Amino acid sequence: MASNEHGVPGSDATPPAADDRSEYDYVSDDVERPGLVDDLEERVAGDVRFDTYTRQLYATDASAYEMTPVGVVFPTGTEDVAAVVDYCATREIPVLPRGGGTSLAGQAVNEAIVLDFTRYMDGIIDVDPGSREAHVQAGAVLEDLNQRLAPHDLKFAPDPAAGNRSAVGGAIGNNSTGAHSLKYGKTDAYVEECEVVLADGSTATLGEMDVAELRERADADADDLLPRVYAGVVAILDDHADEVEARFPDMKRNVSGYNLDRLVDEANDGTVNLARLLAGSEGTLAIVTEATVSLETVPETKSVTLLTYESVVDAVTDVQHVLDHDPAAVELIDDTLIDLASNTAEFEDVTALLPEGTRAALLVEFYAEDDEDGRKKTAGLVADRVEGGHDGGEPDVAGGGDRYAFDSLVAHDDEERATYWKLRKAGMPILLGRTSDGKHISFIEDCAIPPEHLPEFVTRFQEILEDNDTFASFYAHAGPGVLHVRPLINTKSETDLAAMEDIADRVTDMVVEFGGSVSGEHGDGRARTQWNRKLYGDQLWGAFRDLKTAFDPDWLLNPGQVCGDVSMTENLRFSPEYEFDAGFDAELNWDNENGLRGMVELCHGCGGCRTGQDTTGGVMCPTYRAADEEITSTRGRANMLRQAMSGDLPDDPTGDEFAEEVLDLCVGCKGCAKDCPSEVDMAKMKAEVTHERHQREGASVRDKLFANVDTLAALGSATAPVSNLVSKFPGARTVMEKTVGIASERTLPTFERKTLKDWFDARGGTTVPASDADRKAVLFPDTYTNYAHPEIGKAAVRVLEAAGVHVDLADRTDSGRPAHSKGFLDKSRETARKNVAALEPRVAEGWDVVLVEPSDAVMFQSDYLDLLSGDAVETLAANTYGICEYLDVFRLDEEADWSAPDASLSYHGHCHQKATKKDHHAVGVLRRAGYATDPVDSTCCGMAGTFGYEAEHHAMSEAIGDILIDQLDDSDGELAVAPGASCRTQLGDMLDEDARDAADLVPEDRESPPTPVELLAAAVQN
Ligand SMILES: Cc1cc2nc3c(=O)[nH]c(=O)nc-3n(C[C@H](O)[C@H](O)[C@H](O)COP(=O)(O)OP(=O)(O)OC[C@H]3O[C@@H](n4cnc5c(N)ncnc54)[C@H](O)[C@@H]3O)c2cc1C
Ligand code: SF4
Ligand code: SF4
Repeated sequence: MASNEHGVPGSDATPPAADDRSEYDYVSDDVERPGLVDDLEERVAGDVRFDTYTRQLYATDASAYEMTPVGVVFPTGTEDVAAVVDYCATREIPVLPRGGGTSLAGQAVNEAIVLDFTRYMDGIIDVDPGSREAHVQAGAVLEDLNQRLAPHDLKFAPDPAAGNRSAVGGAIGNNSTGAHSLKYGKTDAYVEECEVVLADGSTATLGEMDVAELRERADADADDLLPRVYAGVVAILDDHADEVEARFPDMKRNVSGYNLDRLVDEANDGTVNLARLLAGSEGTLAIVTEATVSLETVPETKSVTLLTYESVVDAVTDVQHVLDHDPAAVELIDDTLIDLASNTAEFEDVTALLPEGTRAALLVEFYAEDDEDGRKKTAGLVADRVEGGHDGGEPDVAGGGDRYAFDSLVAHDDEERATYWKLRKAGMPILLGRTSDGKHISFIEDCAIPPEHLPEFVTRFQEILEDNDTFASFYAHAGPGVLHVRPLINTKSETDLAAMEDIADRVTDMVVEFGGSVSGEHGDGRARTQWNRKLYGDQLWGAFRDLKTAFDPDWLLNPGQVCGDVSMTENLRFSPEYEFDAGFDAELNWDNENGLRGMVELCHGCGGCRTGQDTTGGVMCPTYRAADEEITSTRGRANMLRQAMSGDLPDDPTGDEFAEEVLDLCVGCKGCAKDCPSEVDMAKMKAEVTHERHQREGASVRDKLFANVDTLAALGSATAPVSNLVSKFPGARTVMEKTVGIASERTLPTFERKTLKDWFDARGGTTVPASDADRKAVLFPDTYTNYAHPEIGKAAVRVLEAAGVHVDLADRTDSGRPAHSKGFLDKSRETARKNVAALEPRVAEGWDVVLVEPSDAVMFQSDYLDLLSGDAVETLAANTYGICEYLDVFRLDEEADWSAPDASLSYHGHCHQKATKKDHHAVGVLRRAGYATDPVDSTCCGMAGTFGYEAEHHAMSEAIGDILIDQLDDSDGELAVAPGASCRTQLGDMLDEDARDAADLVPEDRESPPTPVELLAAAVQN
């Protein structure tokens, strides 16, 4: 074990699949074209995967399209890339370079060999603050780069919204940009030089060169490809420069077609940079292996104003005047998004801030030198643009025209600014959460229009939507004229496909009329390539194709995109031919999800579950973070499940191989149910499929044991201390691993002879008479608390009593969580039924129900509603609380004097509480009790109930645990505390025993005064 800077030993865990006991290798047995695999494996150092699972995993991106690739290679360096391309060139096999696969138009899927750069070629090779340049591999994630640059106050300026999982190669491929393009432009402005592999497998360095040198080196008849590429570029300059100048939209935001306007523009000044020509080429011209990018300084500070309007048309009419104030971002929020957001628990407080009558808003952000500068800029904007706004100060700029905004909100501090940005982003998750066949897909979502034409464009766009019996919301980057509009379309219906084509066709006509572009940032791909001919005309369409041929004579690099022959209604993920059959009837309640099918089809591929703990935080998805494998992300699992249930995968989702490779490693943390913008709930789907698997195949002995842990714990307690000795016999752990599959490294729970219930009975029940109490609570003594950790239960009783609560203990101890997690849904339903029958009548008598163990509390609050229906279960769920939640919600702790020791804490919340948005309660309670508390933005601890006890999962469990240990090491607290018994076991097992036993802040037999930290006891010293 390695030791960190505070002397806390952390482990350098074995990579999850490298453990001999791991039964998974992330691939299926069914390998396509083994001869090809052998050939490629001979040539490359990286991984070569042509099995069915891997191919299907890479069949989708964040678009509406799906195409099964030939296979996937994970290159380790430029030599690997060159070897693959060279091999494919001689056999005419297409090749598709890929980053995070977050493209929205289908340009990251193809019938090709996919090169995934994000596994091994994601290095940041060099950062030079002096020259303000960074040299990176193509798979480096933008947000990782920015974290590396932060200490130098520098950043890679283009900021696509999915930048925490998008790679530099993908940003170049799409010429990405983001909300601040008004200041920074697109990626092409920052690409200085690229090392590339050309279509014949040769390598080259592309960068700035004089036009004279370009002409000199151009040779259309050369044997080598590079001189022919130069000749193709020269032909563009000689034959098409005038048409480029005449026909390309005069807009900052245009990524349709090839980047010829920049080429011609720079050539007019005597140079060209072919690395920049690659920007927006979607992997069709050359494959980038490394890039040198230039950097920008991070602004000192920012200020944000929300201008509010009575209509979208008013808002977009105002954009051109707002632009006179030189903002860094101008973002539109429309009425559909405001309405959707105001109906959700998460965003209603934000929408409540909006003045009455707001039907649209512009979020305007300024970069400022200091706070005063920021205030001056916002005051000037408000004075100029808001009706009656001159009270806010004198405008520096008179934007002119009528005033359209009727009110404004201004934010200068980080928290307020984040709130307004949250509002801007609020509606999207809700739009993408639709479980119906109709979805808000991207196909005409990315038009860029000169701002002065936006009002007419929006009005006519809405008419086109109405003509096609659909609707959409309008949001995004209004400043540079980019409007994201996602009409509701059911691509499984021929009628809607016709509507899709009609909308795209007519909107493209409008775009041409207004001198705009069909793609302001998301690219052409399969959705928009077909409209490029109309947008640019025949001559430039021909020029694009000639350029493509010059770079890629046999059209093998991502063929079809930009200037190929693709149709927007082909290769759709959901088409009229799509069929779905889960193969069994669902056991759980899926009413809110439009049935199990609605949930299985919900993931839209955005890649939000492929993000890092450092960059993104949150819970989703710990297994991806630990293993860095697509199949261990929520997206990977969701794609596999959908494909298995729709016949794209040969495997039955309840079969052995699917269980092992796809579902088995999901730890059931429920992180995706909250952190995924569409709330894809993989834990619930896994429980459903596992239940059906048990019906068909039977369950393992170990699963049955774990599902019955309550009975075993009762037995262990009754026979303690003898029962505890069993696991301490020499060789006992090895035998346990060999016979039942429990990891020999794990410490088994120790059972207490005197249970919590024994203790409670012995002390004669509660010390607070009902007559003196404002509240009365039934504490449910869950399995672990009652039999293994009664000290926590005792602390819970004392804390409740100190808060003036009259306490009783429930008779039952099993919440049903263990059986539920293991997919024994009949058993967990039966347990739920018994607990409802026992406790709901008490709730009716005015008792609250309180649990100590977070996952058991969430079982009552949330999972029971999936198992049972009716008033009784709803009443119990609504009146059940985790202990800290209970104290916090009713502010019970405020009355007590906790006499908390002087300690600072790092708090790791339980993933199930995070998923149900209840983890903040403990932090409030601890802080009020006097502890300096640093809440760690952590994922699951990796133990996940019994997952970490299972031998084949031990390495994965520790790899996830490592992430937490690193975070705790970086956090402020001296003592790490966690409410979950399994989290504490994980920390104890991964750190040394002494550290775990150092929880002497919690004296064993302390009667008073209690402190809330005891609820999280068995803490680990940091
Ligand atoms: C929720 C969401 C929000 C988004 N917001 C924005 C936004 O604000 N602005 C924006 O511009 N985009 C946005 N996008 C689109 C997308 O995320 C970006 O364009 C992103 O930069 C693509 O990066 P990637 O690594 O995922 O690329 P991929 O999707 O993997 O690839 C993109 C293209 O680049 C090519 N490519 C990849 N690697 C290489 C390489 N090494 N050499 C040559 N070509 C290569 C691919 O073939 C493909 O054609 C968004 C997407 C989502 C899902
Ligand atoms: S699971 Fe959610 S976060 Fe992951 S890709 Fe799908 S929609 Fe995006
Ligand atoms: S439940 Fe957790 S481990 Fe499973 S897919 Fe969701 S986030 Fe990942």
